Amino acid sequence: MKAEELFESSLKIVQQNRLPSWLHRKLPKGNALFQTGETIKQHKLHTVCEEAKCPNLLECYSKKTATFLVMGKECTRACGFCDIDFSKAPKALDANEPYEVAESVKKLGLKHVVITMVARDDLQDGGARHLAHVITAIRKECVGTTIEVLTSDFDGNQEALTLILKEKPEIFNHNIETVRSLTHRVRFKATYERSLATLSYVKKENPEQLVKSGIMLGLGESKEEVITTLKDLLAAGCDIVTMGQYLQASKKKLAVKEYIHPDMFKEYELIGLDLGIKYMYTGPFVRSSYNANLVLNNTIINSH
Ligand code: SF4
Repeated sequence: MKAEELFESSLKIVQQNRLPSWLHRKLPKGNALFQTGETIKQHKLHTVCEEAKCPNLLECYSKKTATFLVMGKECTRACGFCDIDFSKAPKALDANEPYEVAESVKKLGLKHVVITMVARDDLQDGGARHLAHVITAIRKECVGTTIEVLTSDFDGNQEALTLILKEKPEIFNHNIETVRSLTHRVRFKATYERSLATLSYVKKENPEQLVKSGIMLGLGESKEEVITTLKDLLAAGCDIVTMGQYLQASKKKLAVKEYIHPDMFKEYELIGLDLGIKYMYTGPFVRSSYNANLVLNNTIINSH
């Protein structure tokens, strides 16, 4: 996507959602935005920032940050909240992709990188081996860069999870996305229980592994349900929880039921910390990969 199109897409989301005052923001200045977009394009890569029309795109690209979306830009699931294209039979994996990602990370000078993926239910291992190769390539090319993977549930395939854990990403992230009662409507195929099982498997395999998950608010969940979800995530071994406002990326996607006030986000942050979650990152603009480097550093500080 060209830089001008990035601007347009971001503005459309703001207009379409007729956002309350606390969701208005200034457009960033400078050339870094374009440089980030160009680097990604040169390496023929995709980012979830662009494919999912993330409202933070301009800010993150301006800070030379992006979340790489690997294994193509077509997903085998069609979740109600996510604007990534759906396909039952996405393109074959690109064996060169791990090296292209590593080169881009190096070029952008990222100290921390988030790698996410489309759900590849068409592949026997859900794409786990490919994701492991991406981690290996980054480790080799970008010494000192910390790595966060934001994965699917691999359809409950524990062997696939083990393949990734062997590569020791600094953070394993899997989003539960919403409360139990809304899961069926918000996510396709995924279940609340399977997400919890994914997170707890990771923590049991390696108690030292930092485990992260995220919840979108504004889909019609109650406060009690959110607190129950926080308790469930903690019991599953989550160290970090992110919470942000759900926004409708296109008309085909689920409508926003409620705009959550920043004070409520603050309240959830305190509730989560009080329950024992090591680090809570909450706010209207928070997404699971938003300011991920800061989140990692603050979690390490809170852990000591
Ligand atoms: S919050 Fe994450 S997905 Fe959104 S633009 Fe920033 S890095 Fe990309």
